[in-house]
Amino acid sequence: MKEQLSALLSLQKLDNEIAEENDRCNRLPERIQEKERQITNLEKKYQDEKDALKELQLRIKRREIDAKAVNDKIDKHRNELYGGKISDIKELKQLQKVIESLQEDCDKVEEDLLLLMEQEDAFRFKITKMEKELAESKAQLTEIKYQMEAEEDRIQQYIEKKRQEREKIAGKISDRVLMNRYLILWPEKNGEAIVEIEGSACSGCNLSLPSDILYHLQRGERLIICPNCNRILVWKEHVK
Ligand SMILES: [Zn+2]
Repeated sequence: MKEQLSALLSLQKLDNEIAEENDRCNRLPERIQEKERQITNLEKKYQDEKDALKELQLRIKRREIDAKAVNDKIDKHRNELYGGKISDIKELKQLQKVIESLQEDCDKVEEDLLLLMEQEDAFRFKITKMEKELAESKAQLTEIKYQMEAEEDRIQQYIEKKRQEREKIAGKISDRVLMNRYLILWPEKNGEAIVEIEGSACSGCNLSLPSDILYHLQRGERLIICPNCNRILVWKEHVK
């Protein structure tokens, strides 16, 4: 029984290692997914900025049309004013007032335009920056995918090696009752189906073990189970 338990303890160690590596392997795509989410968000923001720029450019075009209309009006009235066709002073003064008022409108439209164009510059700057960021993120994603593939290969090879070791050790455990108990307990006890005992307490659940159990455990002649947690017990000194 001592050899069987010793082998079982090694088997458990390998099973835990394999499970841990499998977990690691399963978590590998998380980094890729995270980067992909980042890129999707960035692409959405980039599109929003581009839409906003288009909107702004439309406003600029409208304002340019406004500016041209006002300027045309000013030119027309100036021609009237200086054309010599109008000689009535009152009428001329009236016309001058109209031109002044139009000039004010024109100044306002041009001021607006200047502001809008400044905004356009800011948008362009932001968009260029985002394009660079996007390109960088996409390059990073490619790199991460490459790294993850290599890592996955490495882990799979490691697991395969551990599986072969496991098979060898499993072959040494001829006690089917022991093995079956282990296979049921291992997932139930989160990878701690068999525990080493060196004092008088169960290292799985801390129960003080009855003296007859300790006695049989130390003799190592038969299968001993913790009466509290059902774990398989092995006397530490018996483990090779
Ligand atoms: Zn216990």
